[in-house]
Amino acid sequence: MTANVLDGKAIAGEIQAELAEQVTTWTEKHQVTPCLAALLVGDDPASQVYVRNKQRACKRVGLESQLHRLPANTTQQQVLDLVNQLNNDPAVHGILVQLPMPASIDASPVLDAIDPAKDVDAFHPENVGRLVQGRPRFLPCTPHGIQQLLHRYQIDVAGKRVVIVGRSDIVGKPLALMLMQRNCALGPAAVNATVTVCHSRTPDLPAITRQADILVAAIGQPQFVRADMVQPGATVIDVGINLTDDGLVGDVDFEAVKEVAAHITPVPRGVGPLTVSMLIYNTLQAARLQVQTDDAG
Ligand code: NDP
Repeated sequence: MTANVLDGKAIAGEIQAELAEQVTTWTEKHQVTPCLAALLVGDDPASQVYVRNKQRACKRVGLESQLHRLPANTTQQQVLDLVNQLNNDPAVHGILVQLPMPASIDASPVLDAIDPAKDVDAFHPENVGRLVQGRPRFLPCTPHGIQQLLHRYQIDVAGKRVVIVGRSDIVGKPLALMLMQRNCALGPAAVNATVTVCHSRTPDLPAITRQADILVAAIGQPQFVRADMVQPGATVIDVGINLTDDGLVGDVDFEAVKEVAAHITPVPRGVGPLTVSMLIYNTLQAARLQVQTDDAG
């Protein structure tokens, strides 16, 4: 069997085209252009690329974007002051703090300082709490991208055994929460999974991953998931982005696993482009919530 390759880039393009139409309609109605402000501290090269990609995507769909660059020697208080300034700026609807920040800055208080109504990455404890309770304001971007990808390829999650390798606050944990919900905006087939979350202390990991109907790798280890860790016919979602001497590779041994799986995401052109699309989605959602609150409709 050779797996069907799930084209994240194409789905991301489809979502961005839909969002561009919605942005045009909404902007005409409210005479406000949704705006995403990105905050970049230091000069990490990968972060600069990520922020640039996010700004380009904003432009493509008709959103405003701002880039606030601060030098690596910026103090914690200066970062907090900028977040506060953006919180109070009615022209800014979404705030994104690009991670990682320099070691001298403690990221948690900075993320906690973002107005939850502008928290388009959905990292604020209030937004995480809302997700846990099944009444999210924003869905975290990478897990939401994965959910959209499965939905648009008509791969139902309901009743399936989903195994997620990785328990980070950005990917593994929120994805588990999302897929175990009773319902969501995409309907009950996109949730209602039986979810297992694995990590570096999980004994006999392959015995668990082999039970997965849908296996998600969010580990950060190049080509960690081998063919013998995958149930024949499974759907394999590779979140990993690892820069190696051979170029960009995921957490899954793509060439070997595609001979076992029924569906698989590649790296690049897999989950990555969807993350950016869902950030745009959240920025429009943030503008809708803020402007509706301001003018009651
Ligand atoms: P983290 O480093 O925060 O988490 C990695 C997780 O993998 C941890 O829970 C860790 O376990 C687990 N892990 C590490 N080694 C093993 C192992 N040998 N066996 C089992 N579990 C293991 O990473 P992120 O979640 O932030 O990112 C994961 C990957 O996804 C990275 O490559 C990152 O670049 C990529 N990424 C891609 C995105 C995209 O848009 N495509 C977005 C975000 C991330 P433990 O908790 O025990 O340490």
